[in-house]
Amino acid sequence: MSTTKGSDGARGVTPLVVRADQLTGDDESPATEARGLEFENLVRRQLELLGEDPAREGLVRTPSRVARSMAFLTRGYNLRVEDVVGEGVFAEKHENMVMVRDIELYSMCEHHMLPFFGKAHIAYIPNGKIVGLSKLPRIVDMFARRLQVQERLTGEIAEAVQDVLAPHGVGVVIEAFHLCMMMRGVEKQNSKTITSALLGCFRDDGRTRDEFLRLAHTSGNGP
Ligand SMILES: [Zn+2]
Repeated sequence: MSTTKGSDGARGVTPLVVRADQLTGDDESPATEARGLEFENLVRRQLELLGEDPAREGLVRTPSRVARSMAFLTRGYNLRVEDVVGEGVFAEKHENMVMVRDIELYSMCEHHMLPFFGKAHIAYIPNGKIVGLSKLPRIVDMFARRLQVQERLTGEIAEAVQDVLAPHGVGVVIEAFHLCMMMRGVEKQNSKTITSALLGCFRDDGRTRDEFLRLAHTSGNGP
C-alpha cells in the first residue's frame, strides 16, 4: 500500500485548516495552528449568528471538532494522483473491461457545503497496464474530499484513470443523493442524481458503452 498523504505544498495549495494527517497535533506548524484557530473562531461566530450560546456545555468543543472534521472532509486538496496510486500500476496483456462497482462516495457540494453521497462505478479497458483495484476507490476519495459538484467529480475521476493508465477507454458513473436537495430547497428525498463520463472507446464504441452502462445501472439500490 502506498501512503495517501500528500507532500507539503505538493500543488501549491494552502490547506483551509489543519491537514488530516496533522490531526494528531504532533507536528503542527505555527501557520497551520493559526489557520486552525482562525477556523474555530469562525465556527464560534457562526454559532452566535445562529442564535446559539457557544459557551454552553454541548457546544464548547464544537468549533474545534468542526475544524478537524472539515480538515478531514477536504483532505483531498493536498493529494495528487501519484500519491494515491503509488506503485500500484502493473504491466498486463488483459484487454477486457475491468470494472469496480459500488465504490462508496462521500463528498460536499460546493454550492451549499452540504454532503452528497452515493456510489461510483469505474471501468476501463487496459492498453498494456492495469492498476491495483484498491487504487480506484482511493482516486474517488481524493477528488471527493474537496468541495465539488458531481459533474466535475465524475470527469476528474475519469481523467485521472486516463492519465495513470492511458487505457483504450474509461467510463465513470456516479449516482448520488444530495442533502442540499433532500433537506432544503426542493426537499425531494428520493431523487438520485446520475452523472457519467466516458472517454476513448467508452465514448466512441456503442457496444462498449452499452455494456458498461448496463453493468453500472444493474447495481444495488440506494447508497
Ligand atoms: Zn448543493
